[in-house]
Formats: sequence, C-alpha cells, structure tokens
Amino acid sequence: MKFNGNILDVIEKKGISLNGNHEQVWNHVDFLGDEHIATSIETPMREDAFDLTDDKKMEIIEKHFEQIMLTLGLDLNDDSLMGTPHRVAKMYVKEIFQGLNPQNKPKMSVFENKFRYGQMLVEKNISLNSTCEHHFLPIVGKAHVAYMSSGKVIGLSKINRIVDYFARRPQVQERLTVQIAEELKKALETEDVAVVIDARHMCVSSRGIQDESSATVTAEYSGKFKNEKVKEEFLTYIGL
Ligand SMILES: [Zn+2]
Repeated sequence: MKFNGNILDVIEKKGISLNGNHEQVWNHVDFLGDEHIATSIETPMREDAFDLTDDKKMEIIEKHFEQIMLTLGLDLNDDSLMGTPHRVAKMYVKEIFQGLNPQNKPKMSVFENKFRYGQMLVEKNISLNSTCEHHFLPIVGKAHVAYMSSGKVIGLSKINRIVDYFARRPQVQERLTVQIAEELKKALETEDVAVVIDARHMCVSSRGIQDESSATVTAEYSGKFKNEKVKEEFLTYIGL
C-alpha cells in the first residue's frame, strides 16, 4: 500500500484529527473487528515501517500510552503506574510485536535428509502467544505443524521459532496460520505442509460476547496433506 508523507507527520495528523465523523468510522471498525476478517496474507505494513529506530518508536509509543492512561483518568504520579507507559512501549517494540521486523526473522537453515525419513514429521503443541490486531488483546493457544521431507529437513526448534516470529505481530489467526505454512513451504522446498492452530482469543472471552470456553481452530493443508487419509493421520497425531 502506498502512503504519502513521513510517518511522523502521519502520527502527528492522526493525533489532532479527533473531530469529524468518528461515530461512523467506529461502527464500521467494530463490525470488522468482531468478524475477525483478515484482508491479506501479508501483514499490512507501511512502506516506511522501519524508517524509525526502535528507540524512536518506543519514545513515541510511551508518550501516546501516557496520554491514553491520563485520558482514562489515571494518576501517573502513582508509583505503581509511573513506569507503565515505558514498560508498554518496550513490550510492544521489543517483545510482543518484534515479529513485525524482518530483521528478527529466525535463520532458516535446512539440512539434507540423511536418514531418508520419508514419513510425516509432526511438531505438536507448540506454545503460541499472539495478539489480536482488532483489539490488541492476547491470543493464546497451541500450534501443530507437520511436513513431509522432499529431501530437506529443518531443526525442530526452528519450527517453534518460526511460529513465534509470526505470532509476535498484531494478528488474525487465519493469516498467522497461512504465514507459518508459507514460510515452511519455502524453507523446506515442499508443498507438503500442514499447520493447525487451536487458540483462545481474549477479545472473545473477556469482552464482547464474553464466551469463556470457546476456542478457534484454523488449518492450512497443502500438497499431500490435502489427501483425506494423510490429513486424518495428522489429526490423529495431534488429537483433534
Ligand atoms: Zn479481537
């Protein structure tokens, strides 16, 4: 997507355009948000996403988060609240959203499949912590990943790292599932990849409909995993 103007100007403009037709925009946003629709496989990013240093981003976020807290009426002179804007800024940039920056992508070293293991390899119950991009609330669950080697294999911990990298972004679960699958297909040079994510969304359990027990399952099957027998074998391994 093309954007005009420097990112700092845009932040500035957004900051002052608080009048206008917000009611209408919010209605639309709320509708979209609760439907959890993903608009594209790629995370929508600005072209100038990395013009600012991490330190500059933290500085700006800290200032804005302070404004949010003040607007809510919180007293930032309180010892317990004083450090929160800084903590949130650091957490966003360096931890829970660090997967936005391609520089943080794990190196995908693959090896020759010396053992000639041609069956399905399943890495199941990978801990998944992500953030819903519509509400900025946690998505917590498990990812299950499988592939069949075309001659290349990958270190098992790399699979966890890839899941974690794409999870550390504002996400929708469908996009996260596809992004992990696409990355593994590229690295392993095979279409025979399956990814299932089983997760709970705090935006569903703690607000809105307040459903405590529901979970969302998304799946991406490609290559041989589209075959019903193969898919069934995979689902048996992961217990779904
Ligand atoms: Zn949400």
